[in-house]
Amino acid sequence: MVRAENVHKSFGAAHILKGIDLEVAPREVCCLIGPSGSGKSTFLRCINHLEQINAGRLWVDGDLVGYRQRGDRLYELRDREVAAKRRDIGMVFQRFNLFPHMTAIENVMEGPVQVKRETKAVARERAAALLERVGLADKAASYPSQLSGGQQQRVAIARALAMEPKLMLFDEPTSALDPELVGDVLDVMRGLAEDGMTMIVVTHEMGFAREVGDALVFMDDGVVVESGRPREVLSNPRHERTQSFLSKVL
Ligand code: ATP
Ligand code: MG
Repeated sequence: MVRAENVHKSFGAAHILKGIDLEVAPREVCCLIGPSGSGKSTFLRCINHLEQINAGRLWVDGDLVGYRQRGDRLYELRDREVAAKRRDIGMVFQRFNLFPHMTAIENVMEGPVQVKRETKAVARERAAALLERVGLADKAASYPSQLSGGQQQRVAIARALAMEPKLMLFDEPTSALDPELVGDVLDVMRGLAEDGMTMIVVTHEMGFAREVGDALVFMDDGVVVESGRPREVLSNPRHERTQSFLSKVL
């Protein structure tokens, strides 16, 4: 579903991604860990067409990110084509990014109505089902300011799911939450994984990585240092840099 080959990304003179190689199969949950500044968010943003890579190749669902191939030649995608591709990828950030002036259900309906041109009746019905799926059926009429951080984050997940993505990207979805709210969000993510959603999850939640992840990838300084089954990487890290990082977070 996602394949990165020697992906590089610089911002001006700052070389941030220095040759990322990674493969995530359909229905797989890939957990991404690494020190602050190692390029985890940048890599997710590249997958989601929010940043253009400078070298290497990146595929999502068989398509080269940012380019269209005709014969041997590559053509940069137009903005409209990029927007269409991005629709297939759901992204959930550390901060909840809900529209504050809309209720929970209106937040979930917004994409389908505005972008997919669904009728409001259809979108509302689907949004209600999604809110139920994330355990918030009774909060449909609440505004974000009336919800806890964990509830807002679950609305954000429902909102991403409303676009029926092929792939979900999570960038530290629980880092900004009070500890007692983390579990509900992780439970929703675990449910998604069980339903077969392909997911890349940047997280510090090693318990989640161990139990839900199919792969654990350790990034440092813009490269993948080590990856493997989460249990193996966590209990028997091979590289010194992985060991040193894990000793600080476990
Ligand atoms: P954290 O765990 O703190 O979220 P991260 O692994 O997600 O870290 P990134 O956010 O990808 O790290 O940032 C990697 C590096 O790239 C940082 O040094 C950051 O300052 C730099 N960077 C990210 N985005 C930009 C940008 N738009 N312009 C310039 N530098 C950037
Ligand atoms: Mg980050």
